[in-house]
Amino acid sequence: MTSLNDLPLRDNLRGLVPYGAPQLHVPVALNVNENTHPIPEAVAHHIVASLARAVLTVNRYPDREFTELRESLANYLGHGLTAENIWAANGSNEVLQQVLQAFGGPGRTLLGFDPTYSMYSILASGTDTRWVAGERDADYELSADTAAAWVAKTQPDLVFLCSPNNPTGTPLALETIAAVYDATDGIVVVDEAYAEFGGAEAPTALSLLPGRERLVVSRTMSKAFAFAGARVGYLAADPAVTDALRLVRLPYHLSALTQAAATAALDHTAEMLAMVDDIRVQRDRIVTELRDLGYRPYRTGSNFVLFGGVEDPGATFTALLAEGVLIRDIGIPNHLRVSAGTEAETTAFLAAISRLGAPTV
Ligand code: PMP
Repeated sequence: MTSLNDLPLRDNLRGLVPYGAPQLHVPVALNVNENTHPIPEAVAHHIVASLARAVLTVNRYPDREFTELRESLANYLGHGLTAENIWAANGSNEVLQQVLQAFGGPGRTLLGFDPTYSMYSILASGTDTRWVAGERDADYELSADTAAAWVAKTQPDLVFLCSPNNPTGTPLALETIAAVYDATDGIVVVDEAYAEFGGAEAPTALSLLPGRERLVVSRTMSKAFAFAGARVGYLAADPAVTDALRLVRLPYHLSALTQAAATAALDHTAEMLAMVDDIRVQRDRIVTELRDLGYRPYRTGSNFVLFGGVEDPGATFTALLAEGVLIRDIGIPNHLRVSAGTEAETTAFLAAISRLGAPTV
């Protein structure tokens, strides 16, 4: 059988493993930070009607500039943003990849702060960008001083800041983002995939955009909007940044059907986001109940919780799976991560983990 070693693979891809959260069919899947609530049926009907119209013209290429979608996204984000500030692609993974294609590449460096979203280093190797992992402060926090010192030390061409950070849940202070921006001449991306779960009062890097032409705020419809299967991610930045991304995007990268579905969903922002408050309640419940059980949950502004105090994460993961509950072993010793689900799913997780007995580490 042919193996990868038999192929003339690029050297920097040798020995790497692909992104691979398990996709198992289990009753309670809380492993990839999805919104586990289905989208409201009335909104689904509106999306289907919009898709039905779009499908009648799929003989033609879609609007390469996805103007209507960009207008809808700008309108949703507010902060004085217009369509010129917005860019979108098939999931924020693709948005981030395009940023690296335009601003990273051979001889260039991307700085991130481990533990962080595992795709960053994978996207770096895919674009031949050097990945440098900075370290965080205690409890996975990241102060302005620590972050700026890493920037000064490593002189990166790009910095990816994840806020709230996956897999730790940690929201980042705006001072940290501003300090990183001031410490570099490179591109600073703030990945706000989970921003909506911080609540309306949570600070967002969108407020820092005016006057910062190298700052990029990445968002997604996969999480709060319950639209993961549709693959729609986007960013807000200076119009010059979106011009740069036009140099690397594939022509017509957003299908007419994707554009139609996303634009229709954004006509119903309030209904689409109605579940966010409930998810926050379930997340806070997980934090409280895990703490009561003796685990060590971390501060979180997202729809998931990282918790320590797990003696054998592999064993706990397997024991929960045997009860039909899938969570995530993200490879941090004595830690596991769980996404907040519906009330029933959250209850199933909490009941299953409490049956395992009190933690011993
Ligand atoms: N950023 C972060 C921090 C994430 O956790 C994820 C998904 N797990 C993404 C980006 C990518 O999401 P998508 O491609 O679905 O927009």
